[in-house]
Amino acid sequence: MEPQIHIESYGRFRDLLEAAPNAIFEVELDGTIVLLNVAAERMFGYQREALLGQLIEVLIPESLRQRHHEHRGRHAEYPLTRPMGIGLELWGRRNDGSQFPVEISLSPIRSSEGSRVIAIVRDITSRKEADAKIQAFTAELAAKNQQLEIRNREVERANRLKSEFLASMSHELRTPLHTIVGFADLLAEELKGPLNQNQKRFLDHIQRDSRHLLELINDILDLSKIESGRLELHPELFRVPDAVAEAMAGLRPLAENKQIRITEAIDRELEITADRLRFKEILSNLISNAIKFTPEKGQITIESSEGPKSVFFAVTDTGIGIDPAEQQAIFNKFYQLGSTTRGVREGTGLGLAITKSLVEMHGGRIWVESTPGQGSRFQLTLPRAGIERPAKSGESAHPFPGVQS
Ligand code: ADP
Repeated sequence: MEPQIHIESYGRFRDLLEAAPNAIFEVELDGTIVLLNVAAERMFGYQREALLGQLIEVLIPESLRQRHHEHRGRHAEYPLTRPMGIGLELWGRRNDGSQFPVEISLSPIRSSEGSRVIAIVRDITSRKEADAKIQAFTAELAAKNQQLEIRNREVERANRLKSEFLASMSHELRTPLHTIVGFADLLAEELKGPLNQNQKRFLDHIQRDSRHLLELINDILDLSKIESGRLELHPELFRVPDAVAEAMAGLRPLAENKQIRITEAIDRELEITADRLRFKEILSNLISNAIKFTPEKGQITIESSEGPKSVFFAVTDTGIGIDPAEQQAIFNKFYQLGSTTRGVREGTGLGLAITKSLVEMHGGRIWVESTPGQGSRFQLTLPRAGIERPAKSGESAHPFPGVQS
């Protein structure tokens, strides 16, 4: 039995139809338009009367009419509620001949007048435009990414070349410098005859500056090795207090010169797996800085504590301290705080950059806390047994990635 629509609710349906934002058509199976709403009039630019009784194909661009006709035939055979033309670009044609992209859904209905189809048409111009914009943007982004990747590779290559150049340069420079240092030391011993005051002063300059140059070259050599990935770590298990004592041996006279007291708070039994030589280098860089930047009669403390997976070290001084704004930058290459070292040929500005790289190569972390005028506390952690990394099948985990055993 046909459903009976009450006259009042029929009026409400009309209102609903007219309020709908999409164009709605009721079409007979042969394509004749029998009903449309105001949104349909507006979308296609027709008066309602001009469309009633017309074939729906007048609303389709001429070039697509034939295709539509065939599709309509098929829908009549298998009437189902579905979106129309899945995978096809659908176009509407306005009264003035202009075209616009549409999305259409079809619903078969059965009424007292026979089978019909309700077509709901949505103008998707703005969505298409947005899609096109997104596509253009995505393509642009992809192109930019590619450029960036090429640039990155160039930078990497240039960096590697620079490091290699520095490494070989430094090597070449070291040999003659050793000669200068050696002969200056010989002269200073006065075995070949006594020197007068002026000659001693000149010689002193030669010795100091050539040693500084040698230190700089050694640091550059180290850093360029680290940067080009050619510095290998040789991890071994060792007792920390022994290594600390060795690092301290060369530094104690410097501290004594300034009457700086050094306190060690290190567990006698503490052991760690790390590159012993590099570990000593890390500590002696931090301790020599502490001595350098602490005024006479100051105090330096070296301490360690053990966590389950890592060992913590701290070198604390009562020195000049570091401004909070500089506390990150001091780990950069060639960074020296202007006011503290200006005019003083001490250090190379590479010590902390090397120290940080060495700590990180071990899988550790280094940071500083400092109050200007009160002192600094350089802290670091090192994994007890190097970095844990998941073993790939057929391969045993090595505690130090990138390190050849
Ligand atoms: P440098 O060879 O000049 O010591 P570093 O890389 O070791 O180079 O240190 C960089 C700068 O960080 C130093 O020039 C100094 O200004 C600052 N600095 C490092 N350690 C300390 C410290 N313990 N106290 C105060 N300033 C420090």
